[in-house]
Parts: sequence; structure tokens; C-alpha cells
Amino acid sequence: MSFTNSYLASVYEKVATRDADQPEFLQAVKEVLETIEPVVNERPDLVNAGVIDRMVEPERVIVFRVSWVDDAGKVQVNRGFRVQFNSAIGPYKGGLRFHPSVNLSIMKFLGFEQCFKNSLTGLPMGGGKGGSDFDPKGKSDGEVMRFCQSFMTELEKHIGQFTDVPAGDIGVGAREVGYLFGQYKRLRNEYSGVMTGKGIPYGGSLARKQATGYGVCYYMNEMLKDNGLTFEGKTAVISGSGNVAIYCAEKATTYGAKVVAMSDSSGYVYDANGINLDVIKQIKEVERARISEYAKRVDGAVFTPGCNGIWTVKCDLAMPCATQNEINAESAQALVDNGCIAVAEGANMPSTPDAISIFQSNKLLFGPAKAANAGGVATSGLEMTQNSIRLSWSFDEVDEKLHGIMVNIYAACANAAKAYGREGDLVAGANIAGFIKIAESMMAQGVAY
Ligand code: NDP
Repeated sequence: MSFTNSYLASVYEKVATRDADQPEFLQAVKEVLETIEPVVNERPDLVNAGVIDRMVEPERVIVFRVSWVDDAGKVQVNRGFRVQFNSAIGPYKGGLRFHPSVNLSIMKFLGFEQCFKNSLTGLPMGGGKGGSDFDPKGKSDGEVMRFCQSFMTELEKHIGQFTDVPAGDIGVGAREVGYLFGQYKRLRNEYSGVMTGKGIPYGGSLARKQATGYGVCYYMNEMLKDNGLTFEGKTAVISGSGNVAIYCAEKATTYGAKVVAMSDSSGYVYDANGINLDVIKQIKEVERARISEYAKRVDGAVFTPGCNGIWTVKCDLAMPCATQNEINAESAQALVDNGCIAVAEGANMPSTPDAISIFQSNKLLFGPAKAANAGGVATSGLEMTQNSIRLSWSFDEVDEKLHGIMVNIYAACANAAKAYGREGDLVAGANIAGFIKIAESMMAQGVAY
């Protein structure tokens, strides 16, 4: 698809020129601008108020040096980021990613996507994202702690429970959130809900760990139900074996599907009997080891090196839960050829634009990340609420609210797609539904803020 609306074409051109070195950010912007065209065609007021020109430029970007001392006593230097993208509907909210691939393009694409995702949850949260090119893999606990403390020593100046509330993402799990939160508390002498994804004893929410993965399945379930289908008896392939993938696999299994393959960045395991999640949790959550271990421990399971191969495994349902652009056109075609009927994205932007158009032209059900994986941030929103009211809800209470939010998100996407002449196109539906709420809020708040 390309632009027929000349205003949107000109906004995109400007971004493409200004941020020419940011491919992931441009990819995310292009998809949103292309799909909101039916709204923009009807709303000259949004154009006159420059709402879209403003939306594609972050409100603030903070880039900082993070120096820390490794176990050998040597000083190491990493780069830290916080992109505060849009605060029209609430304090900036979005995770921190620690991974060697982190750069400004990836931070901005994630921050931009986060705005629409947070809008879809129905909770008052603006969009942001942050992180560092620090790689926690192979580092001791002491090194991770010193890095996190140094990172927070700068970040603390820019965040707060009413300003910006970070959370985890790739490479930032319970351990890292704990060190980050502890340092914030020390520096501010303040115990507030400034971060989500915290441990249960110190203000975390039950079900937050499970929320993104469970939410992907709740969304997939709605998509299937709307088309007269269920999880029962289906074969599923789930990439990754981190926080999102593990709990996506857990809920898919509870719903009656058989998960036959999972992966990490070294390759994938296939288990025709259905992946044993206790073994995966032991390897990935407890030992922080490689997924190839699974094939050594489970009879009949096979490990294949390389990441893309997982999409050649025959399945009914595919749930990419590892990283951006992990399904290219070739992988999408392999899924189609093998009879896959539905894809729900757990990772952020895991399918390339070519892959999405292959899914859509072959009439697969397709749930885009900013809707399907919104359960994580929605439950972070519920964690903020519990911190504010100084109460903790039970696992079932949180899970029930999460389920309700995911059902509503699916309905909002499906209804927006239908209202704007794109029935069944949940990519357009998610972007339109997320966009309208932010756009109206920006209009109401005037220009100079
Ligand atoms: P984790 O760090 O817990 O896990 C990431 C997993 O993906 C690891 O198993 C990692 O393998 C694997 N991986 C990374 N790169 C590749 C690759 N190229 N091919 C195959 N596997 C790969 O992160 P999360 O589970 O938290 O996040 C996964 C995705 O979900 C990200 O896109 C994130 O932005 C998104 N997301 C996360 C949310 C959350 O609540 N955590 C909320 C919404 C979205 P290895 O161990 O080898 O590195």
C-alpha cells in the first residue's frame, strides 16, 4: 500500500528525510500513516491542527552515558535512552530494553508503537520507551546491579509516578526492575509506583509476569471466536522463550492447543508431543541457559540452529514472541503454504510489511502487536492503580480485568476497521482506534504544550 492522501504523503516524506537513518522507526510510522488515511480524509480539523505532524515527533528524547565497573575492576561505558513520545492521554509509559542492538531507531519505533497500544488499553497512559545497548547475557548479578544503578542515576531525573513510568522489556526482567527500582528509591527517598513489573513483595502486581503472553492468547481467542473457531486441537508455533513466549505457550496449552516449537536467538526446538513448559521454564527462567538444552533433556525433541527455520514448522496458529522483523516474506509464505490459519503478534513488530501483506492477501486472521500484546502494559496500568490505592488485587482479579481489556481491545479494533470500510483488517482497526483517542486529546490540549 502507499499514500493516496497527499498530506499524509508529505508528513511521511518529511520524517523519511529527517530520520533517514532510522529504518525501524520509519517502518512503524509508515504503517500507521497508511492505515489512518480514512480518518484523516474525513477530519480536516486534525490536519489543520498539525496533529499528525506532531505525533511523529517525540516530545522529548534523552540520550545519556552509562558508566559502570565490571568484575575485573575495568570501567565500561554504554549508551542509555529514554524516548518520551506522547503524553496526551497520560504519563509516558513503556518498557526498558537492554540488548546490544538497541539504538535510537529501535527506541523510537517502540515508543511510537507504544502510544497507540496504550491508547487501545483504555487506561490513562501515554507512550514512551527506553533502554541501553548493554547486554545482560553473561554478566554477573553484581555487574547487572552496578549497571542498573548507574543507568537509574541519570534516568531518575526524568521519570516519576506522574511523569514517566518505565517497565521491563527484552533483557529487563524481575532482577533488573528490582535493581532499578531500588536505586530510584534511594536517590529520591520516595516509595512510589515509578516502575512496573516489580516483584510481588514490593509493590508488583500478581499476573503481570503472565500478562503479555496470556493477553496474546485472549486476543487470538477473540479473533478465532469471531470466525467460528477455537484453540482446541490446534497446533501452535511460538517463537522466543522469554517472558512473553513462555506465558503465551502456557495459556495456549490451557486453551487446548499443542505448542510444538519454541526458540531463542540460537535456534529452535521441535517437540511433536507438545513442548514441556516445566523444562523450558527451568532452562530459561532458572538457569538462563540456551534452548538447545531442551533437546538434550526431552526424548524425541530436536534442536535446529538458526532462527528463521521455526516458521517452516507446520502449524495452525503462529505467535511470534521474540523480536522485531523476525517473520519476513519467505517465512510468511512458508506459514501460508503449511496451512497456518491465524497469527497473533506477541513481540513488537515481528512481521515485516511484506509478511503482513502475504498474511492478509491469503486471508489469514492477523492480530497486530499493538493490539495483541497490549495485555502487558495494560496490567502494568493495573499495577500503577494498585500502587496508587495502596492495595493488591488477587491473581484472579487481575487476570479477569486483563481478559476484559483484551476482549475490549479486539472489539475496538474490529469495530474501527468496519466503521472505516476496512472490515476484517485488524492492523487498520488497531491503528485507527488507537489514533483517534490520542488525536482528540491533543486537539483538546492545544498546541503549545
Ligand atoms: P525476553 O528477553 O524475556 O525474551 C526474548 C526472547 O526472544 C528470548 O528467548 C530471546 O532469545 C529470543 N530472541 C531474541 N532475538 C531472537 C531472534 N532473532 N530469533 C529468535 N529468538 C530471539 O523478552 P520478552 O519476552 O519480554 O519480549 C519479547 C518481545 O515481546 C519483544 O519484542 C518485546 O518488545 C515484546 N513485548 C514484551 C512485553 C513484556 O511484557 N515483556 C510487552 C509487550 C511486548 P535469547 O535468550 O537467545 O536472547
